[in-house]
Amino acid sequence: MSTEQALAATLNPALRSWVSSAQAADCDFPIQNLPYGRFRTHPQEAWRIGVAIGDQVLDLRATGLIDHADMARLVAMPRADRVALRMALSKGLAEGSAEATAWAPALHAQLAVQLGTPCDAGDYTDFFVGIHHATAVGKLFRPDNPLMPNYHWVPIAYHGRSSTLVASGTTFKRPRGQVKAPDANAPTLQATGRLDYELELGIVIGRGNETGEPIDISQAEDHVFGLTLFNDWSARDIQAWEYQPLGPFLAKNFASTVSPWIVTLEALAPFRRPFVRSAEHPQPLPYLSSDANNAAGAMDVKLEVLLQTRQMRDAGLPHQRISTSNFADAAYWTVAQMVAHHTVNGCGLRPGDLFGSGTLSGPQHEQAGCLLELTVGGKQPIALSNGEKRTFLQDGDSVVLRGYCERPGAARIGFGLCEGRVIG
Ligand code: MN
Repeated sequence: MSTEQALAATLNPALRSWVSSAQAADCDFPIQNLPYGRFRTHPQEAWRIGVAIGDQVLDLRATGLIDHADMARLVAMPRADRVALRMALSKGLAEGSAEATAWAPALHAQLAVQLGTPCDAGDYTDFFVGIHHATAVGKLFRPDNPLMPNYHWVPIAYHGRSSTLVASGTTFKRPRGQVKAPDANAPTLQATGRLDYELELGIVIGRGNETGEPIDISQAEDHVFGLTLFNDWSARDIQAWEYQPLGPFLAKNFASTVSPWIVTLEALAPFRRPFVRSAEHPQPLPYLSSDANNAAGAMDVKLEVLLQTRQMRDAGLPHQRISTSNFADAAYWTVAQMVAHHTVNGCGLRPGDLFGSGTLSGPQHEQAGCLLELTVGGKQPIALSNGEKRTFLQDGDSVVLRGYCERPGAARIGFGLCEGRVIG
């Protein structure tokens, strides 16, 4: 069996698992997904590598398929080894498997364990590939010049800080910083009054490259292990005052939430779409173009933002969905283009490095991936179902990002939850 045939077998929608919860309707983690994350059973324990299946997590080392608990080492595996591990997991978790008895004790209920960030990231880069976001936010900051001319040529990004990447479920304090009102003579140091979320995907780098050795776009996806959800919390008032001339700084590096599970490129294979650059826009330079990228460079990942205020939580009300979007519709550049561009100057990437995609707003206003856009710079509050309104986030607000892929002929897979809450 070829690698591609083996991969296709793990994606067969008819496959079922002996872990019965994997068959539940709308389960994010059927046997066709098999995302990797890190978990522990108590806070003093070292992180273990787990695979999500149904409502359980399988302790990967306990299955004997790997002999370590180092996610950076796992993500750095060559593609053939990744596919081989995926095949072994698929076979062992499939209904009727000979491994069922031996593996059953390696299962833990997801609700009973602590889930961490999926990998330690040495470096974190935040891109800006959401063109609808770039245009809408550009209009707020520069009404006469919303999209800078380089946007159509360069996958724009800034270097963030890996030290403030936090796991889903982590609370953070409302940050303070320099804020200057437009009519004030001088800034003041104060708690941000314009706290926002950003709906993004995280891109986990697998195999690295030597500094000085660019990654060609034709090889770019061999260096990507998979995707997570990613919330790049932002303080818009601090951002507005500090961002020129060198870009975001303290408005962005107080917390960024990463979801627990890395959905692999192998699991995303059925959900690829062509990369299309409309004729009104310049075509990418040759180093950002390849036949494979044109044929299937984009990824059809459906995205949602949900909000729960403190009042809603106290009243027992669930998170309320406030917008939906899609990676393929939102992104001007593909994952392969981001990798090729990031390394074209010889910049070295290391296993576990994280890219943020940038805010993934859809083309319609109600598909905005942040409150800055959704409320038109805080001028048009959104109404919540319990009668509350929001322009920006209030203390106690919890934001959940969700992502999933579905299409006829493929099993639906999901990303789990990416949750964070601001406290006073
Ligand atoms: Mn961002």
